[in-house]
Amino acid sequence: MQNFTHTIDGRGESSEAWLDVINPATAEPFAKFPDASRAQLDQAVAAARRAFAGWSRLSFQERREYLGRFAQALREHAEELVPLLVREQGKPLADAKAELALAPRQIERLSSIEIKNEILRDDEHGRVELRYRPLGVVGIITPWNVPIVIAIGRIVQALYTGNTVVQKPSPNTPLTTLRMGEIIRGILPPGVLNIIAGGNDLGPWMTEHAGIDKIAFTGSVATGKKVLVSASSNLKRVTLELGGNDAAIVLDDVDPKAIAPGIFWAAFGNCGQVCMAIKRLYVHERIYEPMCQALADIARSVKVGDGFEPEVKIGPLQNKMQYERVLGILEDTKRQGARILAGGHALSRPGYFIAPTIVADIKEGTRLVDEEPFGPILPVLRYSDIEDAIRRANDTRYGLGGSVWTKDTDRGAEIAARLEVGTAWVNQHCHLEPTVPFGGAKESGLGREYSVVGLKSYMETQVISVAGS
Ligand code: NAD
Repeated sequence: MQNFTHTIDGRGESSEAWLDVINPATAEPFAKFPDASRAQLDQAVAAARRAFAGWSRLSFQERREYLGRFAQALREHAEELVPLLVREQGKPLADAKAELALAPRQIERLSSIEIKNEILRDDEHGRVELRYRPLGVVGIITPWNVPIVIAIGRIVQALYTGNTVVQKPSPNTPLTTLRMGEIIRGILPPGVLNIIAGGNDLGPWMTEHAGIDKIAFTGSVATGKKVLVSASSNLKRVTLELGGNDAAIVLDDVDPKAIAPGIFWAAFGNCGQVCMAIKRLYVHERIYEPMCQALADIARSVKVGDGFEPEVKIGPLQNKMQYERVLGILEDTKRQGARILAGGHALSRPGYFIAPTIVADIKEGTRLVDEEPFGPILPVLRYSDIEDAIRRANDTRYGLGGSVWTKDTDRGAEIAARLEVGTAWVNQHCHLEPTVPFGGAKESGLGREYSVVGLKSYMETQVISVAGS
């Protein structure tokens, strides 16, 4: 069995306690990872603080060069990391390859964004300059749905802007991230990037730690709220990227068959376990039945299975808790008398598999519509008046993303702008770029990641004000 280690101060460290990692396609444990103690967190934070002095003094160009070598190392080890990601996360092989291919591109694109000082005034009254300083040590806490790309996005933003990092993966998917730490150990100066894994205590220890200056958290709304409270102990800067219940509104001028694949994969990609997946679909009554049928046809034709099996497009739910939660929502949906057009059941095989499920004739006030299921189940809701659709789409405490599907893109953009969300798309959904800010409105988050806006959230704004003569 492969032996995984934390990366602390550029060295491999083990722990006394070990935790199991379950393969969601079999429901069996297949590996163990070390459970970091509080003392090991202290060591990682101390190492990051020591490394900060040298790392923060480097120029952006020097840090960009280090990060370029980081990207290169990830590319060279992709073949080894991809199967590990499939085994611990459950996603299909092609999706794991895509995730490992995206990570180095993300590093290069984020670290090529320029952060410029700004002159606010330069006249006889004085010279006022706006500069940006790194914050110090950033604690990064990540979830289990897209473990590498989410971690890399935050790590690169923190490092490129001159901070040092302690990163913690989810206990459900720690292995690829720990292995990534091992691979890049010789590439960055010791202590600049520390990666430690652990059980349920490690996250709260990080958020309350006096030696950490910022927390970049990605996960559920409920945990995000706890992070915010705990991080207030030393007024840490906080970015929260939380859950969503994204609505997509389909206008009556579209061809349902033509747009069905785009909508389907925006809802069911990664087995529906995407923060900004389409989770409520509002369809105009004139095209309601054909839209439902087009989606159900795709759902019935998609191969669900172990990510290593050929042609599989949808894997299992990532963990037992999530699997049971989605099954609970499915049972509740059936009790409401909704029409199940495809799926509606677990697969009769070991592992956490649920058939992709399309639900028609369902209303607000049900668990499926009001909660974030985070699984392969999509409610299709009927509307007749666009004002009513917009009101219903906005009637939620979530506000991550949303989309409008129409042939009239100008009208689509106007409707999209009325959605109370961080990102409103037209004729697409789940579309992200490193140079475009991403984050949630309302309870879907606080702050933005990516782009110059995200990078500056890893820095403190500083004014240099020189008196005029
Ligand atoms: P989660 O909130 O349970 O856990 C996320 C991380 O926080 C894990 O590493 C976990 O160990 C850690 N954690 C748990 N309790 C903690 C605490 N009290 N203090 C500090 N850390 C703690 O979320 P999850 O189940 O791993 O992920 C699914 C959720 O993440 C969904 O709601 C999804 O929408 C959301 N998500 C959001 C984004 C985004 O960018 N907005 C991206 C991916 C996932």
